[in-house]
Amino acid sequence: MANTTPDNPHASERSATLFDEAQQFIPGGVNSPVRAFRGVGGTPLFFNHGEGAWLIDEDNNRYVDYVGAWGPLILGHCHPAVIGALQEQLSRGLGYGASTAAEVDIARTICKLVPSIERVRLVTSGTEATMSAIRLARGYTRRDKVVKFEGCYHGHVDGLLVKAGSGALTLGEPDSLGVPKAYTDLTYVLPYNDIEAMKALFKEHGDEIACIIVEPIAGNMNMVPPVPGFLETMRELCTEHGSVLIFDEVMTGFRVALGGAQSVYGIKPDLTALGKVIGGGLPVGAFGGRKDIMDCIAPQGGVYQAGTLSGSPLAVAAGQAMLREIQKPGFYEELGATTEAMLAGLKEQARAAGIPFTTNQVGGMFGCFFSGEDSITRFDQVMACNVEQFRKYFHVMLNNNVYLAPSAFEAGFVSAAHGQAELDTTMAAAKKAFASL
Ligand SMILES: *Cc1c(COP(=O)(O)O)cnc(C)c1O
Repeated sequence: MANTTPDNPHASERSATLFDEAQQFIPGGVNSPVRAFRGVGGTPLFFNHGEGAWLIDEDNNRYVDYVGAWGPLILGHCHPAVIGALQEQLSRGLGYGASTAAEVDIARTICKLVPSIERVRLVTSGTEATMSAIRLARGYTRRDKVVKFEGCYHGHVDGLLVKAGSGALTLGEPDSLGVPKAYTDLTYVLPYNDIEAMKALFKEHGDEIACIIVEPIAGNMNMVPPVPGFLETMRELCTEHGSVLIFDEVMTGFRVALGGAQSVYGIKPDLTALGKVIGGGLPVGAFGGRKDIMDCIAPQGGVYQAGTLSGSPLAVAAGQAMLREIQKPGFYEELGATTEAMLAGLKEQARAAGIPFTTNQVGGMFGCFFSGEDSITRFDQVMACNVEQFRKYFHVMLNNNVYLAPSAFEAGFVSAAHGQAELDTTMAAAKKAFASL
C-alpha cells in the first residue's frame, strides 16, 4: 500500500509495476496511445476482469466503467448471452477460412436493422471498415478527392490522418509523421457543423469529390451532435454532385439507437462503416450500403478488399448474441434513461459546486464539458474547454471508484448493466470531484 495517500485510498502498486515492465517491451507501454494516460497524467491502470458495469484492476480495486472498451460493451462485461455464444462456438472451432451460416445470419440482421445497408461485408476493425469504404467510393465514382471534418476520427487510415490547412478551402496537411503529403493532398478538411463551408467547397470542387466521410454524431472530439441541416445538406450535395456519402457509425452504430445515428436523424447515407458494438467486444468491423456501390467490390467488381480473419466465427457469434439482446423491447429507452439520469446528476453536482459544466447525449453515448457555454456544437468550443479541471476531476473520480476515459476529448458510454447502484457510486464520486475543483 506504499503509494496510498489520503487523496488516493487505492493502492495501485501492481498496475505501476506492470506499466514499468510494459514500457520495456511495448512502445509507450501500451497497444493504443490513449491508454497511456498522457491526457490526464499519472499511471494507467491494468485491469484483471470485468463484471457487468464494473472493472476490477490488478490491485483489486473496483470501478464503475464508463469506457466500455471504448464503446463495444453496450451489454456490460461478461453478458451471459455473449459468453454462452462464444463457448458454444469455441467447441466447434475458431475459424475455417471459408463461409459459415452465421455470417449470412448476421448480414441479414444488419441489413434489417440498418435499412440503408443492402449489402454488407465484415472486416476486423473500424479502421479497416472506413478505409475499405473510401476505396470503394473512389472506385465507384472514379474520383480521388475525399472530404472529412476537423475533429472527426475514422481510424488510423493514412489519408485521413489530416489536420486542416491554413485556409477554409485548402487541402489538409498530415497529422502524423509517416503520412505522405501526396495522400493528404487528396483530402479536404472542413469545420464540423459548418454548412456554408461545405456548400462553398462543393460549388468549387464538387465534381472531383469521391465521397464525404463523417461521424454523424462526432464522438472523437468529446461528443458533438450535428446541428439541424448539417447532415441534410451533405446528403443533398452528395446526391447533386454524384459523390458518395459515408456515415462512419463505428461508434454510433447500435449505440445511439438500434438503427444508428442515421435512424435518429432520418438521413440515408450511401455507405456506412460499423465497428465497436457490432462485435460484442471482439474485433469486428463492417461496411455496407447501396447494392450498386457494394457490387463494385471483388470478386464481383474491380475494387479489391479482403481479410484472412474477416467474418471470424467467434466474432460473429459474439455479434449475433449482442444483436439479439439489443433488439429486445425497451432496450434503448432504458439505456437512454440511465444515461440521462446520470448526466442530470452530474450537472446538479457541478451547479452545487459552482463549476461551469455542460453535457451532450444521444442514447447511451455522452460528452461532458468543463465549459460555460450553453451548447457545444463546434470543434473550437471543445478545444476551449478547461482541460486542467478535467484532469483533476478524472483523478478524483478514479480514486472514488469511477473509471472515465483518460482524455478530455473522448465520448463516454453507459451499458445496460449500469443501474442505481452504479449511479449512486458515480454521484458520490462526482460530489467530491466537483468540490475539489
Ligand atoms: C474507433 C473508431 C474508428 C476506428 O476503429 P478501430 O476499430 O479502432 O480501428 C473509426 N471511426 C470511428 C468513428 C471510431 O470511433
